[in-house]
Amino acid sequence: MGASGFSNVLRLPAARRICVVLVDGLGKALLTQRAGHAPFLRGVMAADGGGEHPRTLHAAFPSTTATSLTSLGTGQVPGQHGMLGYDVLDPEQDKVVNLLGNWDGGVDPQRWQPFPTVFEQLDGRIPTATVSLPKFAQSPMTRAALRGSTFLGATSPQARVQVAAETLAAHPTMLLYLYWSELDKAGHGHGADSAKWESQLEELDAGMKRLAATVPPDTLILLTADHGMVDVPRPARIDYSQYPELVDGVRHTAGEPRMVHLYLEPDAGPGTCARLVAAWLERFGTKAWVLTKDEAVASGYFGEVRDGASGRIGDILVLARETIAFYDMRRVGPHAIEVVGQHGSITKAEREVPLLRIPVTARSPKGSKRR
Ligand SMILES: [Zn+2]
Repeated sequence: MGASGFSNVLRLPAARRICVVLVDGLGKALLTQRAGHAPFLRGVMAADGGGEHPRTLHAAFPSTTATSLTSLGTGQVPGQHGMLGYDVLDPEQDKVVNLLGNWDGGVDPQRWQPFPTVFEQLDGRIPTATVSLPKFAQSPMTRAALRGSTFLGATSPQARVQVAAETLAAHPTMLLYLYWSELDKAGHGHGADSAKWESQLEELDAGMKRLAATVPPDTLILLTADHGMVDVPRPARIDYSQYPELVDGVRHTAGEPRMVHLYLEPDAGPGTCARLVAAWLERFGTKAWVLTKDEAVASGYFGEVRDGASGRIGDILVLARETIAFYDMRRVGPHAIEVVGQHGSITKAEREVPLLRIPVTARSPKGSKRR
């Protein structure tokens, strides 16, 4: 878009208007496998309009919305922005805090995630807008990850597409972020291998077709996602808190069912850590990867970790490898274990997301008055 201070790492073509569609939970593998339910997007992928950009991106770690959207919104790695999971330890309060819909009152989003968002960095040089669900307008998650743009709320996906198209038409240059929540919701509730998920994919497909037909012709439409998803069968959803050897010496548990943070008691020595790692490996060593915090940080899972965010990372991390999910039922409600579609770990199905350039099909020569 020509704004200084940014580098074009994705090798995207120049554009005066850009519409970034973020589809929550649309893994690359899911989109490819289920493309039969997305004839428009399948056609876009098959035709591939060219360009130098990568067709696949990798979600940040953990592969979950709070983390990934903040990386998208700020351009920072998780170790910097500090949104390190669905829920994580707040060392200052010595308690686990939620970073998504159930944000803790004791956490200031601006202090927790202090880096300027892309919207803030643009600082009015290019008009920016977020089109999302009205309930997210002032949500702490929005304020942490995506603050600084004009927020336009619309409840139904169709209404969001319409608002996006109208808003782009009203601005000769604009960066617009369009959030699509429905697919992820269907996946969590019913699994990605469900009729509900398929019908949501069809809805998305129809919405993207409509968006392509209604935005101004010079708009660059980019579709991507924050993470993918795997379905975890009920018997593979494990309450690990029933095994004392997996939680003895653990002060707090947090994270995702597929990427668990375990925080040790302050007086726990290296012996406790080694014993816990061994116990987890003995029980789940073929089904999960078990890493100490030092190993994960040194291997670059979070990017470079700033001091203020380091304490939010578990001393031990359990990353699901097979279709399995881990719950501490002492801490989470019974509804949590009913969730079918899951993400958070580093498998391809969870980390790989599409980057799709959707060609505009609108033919209007002016474009600015289209509805
Ligand atoms: Zn999700």
